[in-house]
Amino acid sequence: MINDNKIKQIKEYAELNNVPIMMDDGISFLTDYIHKHRIKKVLEVGAAIGYSAIMMCNVDPELTVTTIERDEKRYLEALKNIKNVGLEDRIQLLYKDAFDVHLEDTYDLIFIDAAKAQNQKLFEYFEKNLSENGTIITDNMNFHGLVQIDSEEIESRNLRQLVRKVKDYRLFLENHKQYNTEFFDIGDGIAVSQKI
Ligand code: SAH
Ligand code: MG
Repeated sequence: MINDNKIKQIKEYAELNNVPIMMDDGISFLTDYIHKHRIKKVLEVGAAIGYSAIMMCNVDPELTVTTIERDEKRYLEALKNIKNVGLEDRIQLLYKDAFDVHLEDTYDLIFIDAAKAQNQKLFEYFEKNLSENGTIITDNMNFHGLVQIDSEEIESRNLRQLVRKVKDYRLFLENHKQYNTEFFDIGDGIAVSQKI
């Protein structure tokens, strides 16, 4: 079990530095899912400062996470946090853009929590790494976060394009023949796509 105070410090840093870590309801949903489905091997896209990866490891001592972060400052903070809670053996942190990561392994759960506009591309890119009967969980499915999205997203794409992308991704999941997807109005919207 990880020291509550250390978790609290990570959350405080996120708050102070506007790092969009999962809120309490979202993280409970995710960790409950991991517990119920006995997930052991996770691939996370979007580590930020390592908070969700650490919380996932906290569910089960046998669980391992590979997680990807492209922002240097957040990567360094994640590295520090992971060491501080003693999880460097169970969390593999990759400092890369997700699309430059080439993984051979398969994972029980792929958790996509990166940039809204990239959700579908990320799903398609990492699908090959999903184990049989695996699940892809996507965060940031809703529109209500659009008023306070990452500034990088405002700079690179206009809001209309982003709204369209979020809608298109929903439709993509709803119509996907190889996955059953359930949508949950938790946090900024979570989709759970179970491979058939
Ligand atoms: N899962 C984290 C929060 C992630 S916030 C938690 O709950 O604790 C989303 C992160 O994804 C940001 O830090 C951003 O830098 C990163 N990100 C966005 N697009 C990315 C990409 N293409 N490759 C790697 N990281 C990306
Ligand atoms: Mg998120």
